[in-house]
Amino acid sequence: MRKTLILSTAFLLIIVAGGFAVGNQPAESILITGGLLVDGSGSAGRRVDVRIQGSTISEVGILKPRPFERVIDAKGGVVAPGFIDLHNHSESGLLRDQTARSQTLQGITTLAVGPDGSSPFPIADYFERIEKSGAAVNVLSFVGHATLRRRVMGDDYKRSASDTEIRLMAEMVDQAMREGAIGLSTGLEYDLGHPSTTEEVIALARIAAKYKGIYMSHVRDEADLAMDAFREAIRIGREAGLPIQISHIKLGTVGVWGKAVEVVGLIDDARRKGVDVTADCYPYDAWASTITVLVPSRKHDDSAAVTRGLQDVGGGKNVLIASCSAHPEFVGKTLEEIAASSGTSPVEIYMRIVKDGGAGVVCRSMTESDIRTFYRQPWVMVASDGGIGMRHPRGTGTYPRVLGRFVRDWKWISLEEAVRKMTSLPASRAGLRDRGIIKKGMKADLVIFDQAQVIDRSTMTEPFVEPIGMDYVLVNGVAVIDGGKTTGMRPGIVVRHISR
Ligand SMILES: [Zn+2]
Repeated sequence: MRKTLILSTAFLLIIVAGGFAVGNQPAESILITGGLLVDGSGSAGRRVDVRIQGSTISEVGILKPRPFERVIDAKGGVVAPGFIDLHNHSESGLLRDQTARSQTLQGITTLAVGPDGSSPFPIADYFERIEKSGAAVNVLSFVGHATLRRRVMGDDYKRSASDTEIRLMAEMVDQAMREGAIGLSTGLEYDLGHPSTTEEVIALARIAAKYKGIYMSHVRDEADLAMDAFREAIRIGREAGLPIQISHIKLGTVGVWGKAVEVVGLIDDARRKGVDVTADCYPYDAWASTITVLVPSRKHDDSAAVTRGLQDVGGGKNVLIASCSAHPEFVGKTLEEIAASSGTSPVEIYMRIVKDGGAGVVCRSMTESDIRTFYRQPWVMVASDGGIGMRHPRGTGTYPRVLGRFVRDWKWISLEEAVRKMTSLPASRAGLRDRGIIKKGMKADLVIFDQAQVIDRSTMTEPFVEPIGMDYVLVNGVAVIDGGKTTGMRPGIVVRHISR
């Protein structure tokens, strides 16, 4: 794509005055011309121009430049709404790196923190910190079940919560929702969430429902019991009366490989019965988590249980250590490699790591055909489950990967459908009424990318290699990526979901 900048005199003066724009004031008016507009609705791309006035899209159509207007030539490129990532782990990363470069380079303009049951709390304090430090992206937050469990139950969390404890947690959910959370998240597969009963989660989800929030679930089991876990998530949403988002839908063990069609049947059936279920799916056949999820029975020193756990994911060769504070020398190696070099077995290495405090792992245990089946469902959207500093390639590559591989190279879905899954679908999920579609009056969160070039380049062993193809990313009318380069601007806002 040609990247021609037509600079008006006024604009040059601003540059001379010492910056791309003064403060966080957006340029008065920007015209994006000559691109293929894929507006986020799913309808066919069309050759029209887009004008931005301040932080808002002011016109869409065949437009002529005005005097003193910045013109971005998008010829050869695709103009789309900024991508909205409902599952992002940048909670602390955003406080370190306000430019959120690894996120904006993928086209992400809005992200939600607090997934998997783990969130900031109080949400109001976090939002204030973000507003004080500024951010390149817009920020939303879930309130996390595990976070509240830890606050209320302390170290004594390996049991179901009492009625009093549930009441205390419910008050905290209520507070978080009033402070602007978009819903409740749980991570029922993790240590803190796992001991809870379904009823406990339903009680808390009811509070989120009161504020028109959603329930977002990292389900209790993504392995052999995945079907039951999806049923549980659906039950929680149905009984609590709120929309359900299944996080990073996947089938992660040998025993359930190939069952995506069955899962789709289950969810389609619930949807037909009026239950509002959707899901997101990251575009990788490997997950990242804590090492202990490999052994669902939690018998981490029982070699039979560990052997079974490793077999379920296809063996120790599929488990890569991504972080390990007790054994930094293991990082970047698989259990099989570590075992081979120390003359032991992957099972023994597993037990040693868990005994010494655990590790973060990347585990290659999903099949491409299941991922393709999920991606072809209209209720499946893209979310990264990544974030700033994430040692999994999805932290840097998710959106370019979908556009480059699933759309262009493998033709699983159309460009328009992929963009819808990245924009209007998550926007409607999050209750964002002024983002996710390009039309007059909407907020000017926009991306311009080269569909012939866009591609992820991050890998399991080199997770931080940046993608290519994202030429411009605008947040609230201000460029955070300009001609492929980070501008350092922080035009993002906190979006509080307050029920209307
Ligand atoms: Zn998760």
